[in-house]
Amino acid sequence: KSIKIANPMRTQAILNQYGLRAKKKFGQNFLTDQNILTGIVAAAELSKEDAVVEIGPGIGGLTEYLALAADEVLAFEIDRDMVKVLGETLAPYENVTVQNDDVLEVNLKQTLAEHFGLNRSVKVVANLPYYITTPILLGLLQAQINWSRLVVMMQKEVADRLTAEPGTKEYGVLSITLSYYANVQTALTVPRTAFNPSPNVDSAVVSLTPREPDQPVDNPDQLFSLVKATFAHRRKSLWNNLLQRFGKDEGIKERLTKALDQSNIQPGVRAEKLTLNQLTDLYLALMEQGFYA
Ligand code: SAM
Repeated sequence: KSIKIANPMRTQAILNQYGLRAKKKFGQNFLTDQNILTGIVAAAELSKEDAVVEIGPGIGGLTEYLALAADEVLAFEIDRDMVKVLGETLAPYENVTVQNDDVLEVNLKQTLAEHFGLNRSVKVVANLPYYITTPILLGLLQAQINWSRLVVMMQKEVADRLTAEPGTKEYGVLSITLSYYANVQTALTVPRTAFNPSPNVDSAVVSLTPREPDQPVDNPDQLFSLVKATFAHRRKSLWNNLLQRFGKDEGIKERLTKALDQSNIQPGVRAEKLTLNQLTDLYLALMEQGFYA
């Protein structure tokens, strides 16, 4: 089959045909660059065995590539107008299902089990709506679905935060939270000219593969909320952020000191210097000192 949707002329013609314009409120920027689309499929290493989840198919430009490369595609699209377009543009592809839903409202684990069968592993491939990149990513990671790869386009600035190393200014809560669940790499950087309409920022495609944390904890959300607290004031010391979070009376200071000692972390350090493993050590020590139930 030849590619029919994602090129600059076809994309504009499809929008015109339906009397539609890209909607800002849904973060609609349609990919029209075939090299980038090929690059996304390559980064996902798709084969005819793969079940794929797409978020935000739009008019179906990327979906068409996924349909050709994978076994089955399930796509979530919030915009009813787009769903109407997809009914036509994707009609030749029987292996695609479009669900008219807000991906943030869907029970992913259950929906994927119903659609693909219990526990079938999936790859998630998407040109994300940028205004909700972080909630979508965290939602995917926390939904406990069985995924083997996430390949997602986002603002380059956000991609830089996801892949940041300790000690850099991009390093923060997002880098740390993701590194608990995944190995993260930038697969492609993408100029704004690859889209219709062009976004105001450059983009990047990030590839995530699942990883077992070095130190799994029972309640990862509690660990991440500690991380958030240690980064609450980036320019302040870990000690000051901990006092801010837990309180300043002498008894608390004593227990905090013990926890820091036990995890071998200097109170004067800034959180941005600490690795996930160090922050996990600190969390476990704080737990031992009774700061968490
Ligand atoms: N995949 C298409 C492409 O690459 O050309 C469109 C990508 S566009 C950046 C993002 C898409 O996500 C839009 O189609 C938009 O309507 C859809 N979208 C926005 N918010 C959504 C949500 N909460 N749930 C599902 N889809 C959403």
